[in-house]
Amino acid sequence: MSGGGRVSIVGAGPGDPELITVKAMRRLQEADVILYDRLVSEELLAYAKSGALLVYCGKAPGHHAMPQEVINEQLIKYAKEGKAVVRLKGGDPFVFGRGGEEALALAAHGIACEVIPGITSAIGAAAAADIPLTHRGIAASFACVTGSRCHGEQEPVRWDLLAHGVDTLVIYMGVSQLGNIARELMASGKDGATPVALVEKGTTDRQRVLTGTLRDIERIAAAAELENPALIVIGEAVKVRAQLNRLLSSSEALLA
Ligand code: SAH
Repeated sequence: MSGGGRVSIVGAGPGDPELITVKAMRRLQEADVILYDRLVSEELLAYAKSGALLVYCGKAPGHHAMPQEVINEQLIKYAKEGKAVVRLKGGDPFVFGRGGEEALALAAHGIACEVIPGITSAIGAAAAADIPLTHRGIAASFACVTGSRCHGEQEPVRWDLLAHGVDTLVIYMGVSQLGNIARELMASGKDGATPVALVEKGTTDRQRVLTGTLRDIERIAAAAELENPALIVIGEAVKVRAQLNRLLSSSEALLA
């Protein structure tokens, strides 16, 4: 590795600070510089060694996030200075985390990096909301999809294919497009009665879960003033949550 530094692109997990891996925690404790994102739990930063430089790369309310090129430049700069650098990201770095772009930018400068996976928010939030993403007899597949490409210059998401090709859809960055996504799926023939869950601030102590159907979820989200970060989970597997809740409350009643 040239430059003497070490860059670790690290997943911090979905929100609950305890859901970080042992390896990620070790890198965090050893780092000279930590460049962290908005979705990283602040509590995790308390594990940085004293004197570590903490650099916030996320979006302050009403401001732009640090541009990706600036983040890349900083990673390169600190690595070349011989620092142990941690790039700490919410969830997993390679799931809508731009970790691949950062790894490529480093490689282009001859700097090797390691990627330490994290529990992505889909996995964390599904568990915390009692929704099995796959479930025997109900869901044999799930997909993680971005909801931010309903309109725009990037390759559009093929909602028509996803409507039928995947059992459980987990949509990231989709809150502002919720109505459009639901309409796209229904226009592609997905039943309007398909269950939907919205998991806000999943795995944190401020988690909220709202449920509805493709037909009414936009109204439910608006009425509840759904906030980011939130995931949209669509599919029959969402129904297991209610079954589980019923069973748990009846077993509590039996134990009481
Ligand atoms: N790399 C991250 C995703 C970053 S994209 C990961 O692997 O999870 C940002 C999107 O992730 C948000 O718009 C939201 O849809 C989702 N997200 C991240 N943390 C979340 C949380 N705690 N609860 C619900 N959704 C979350």
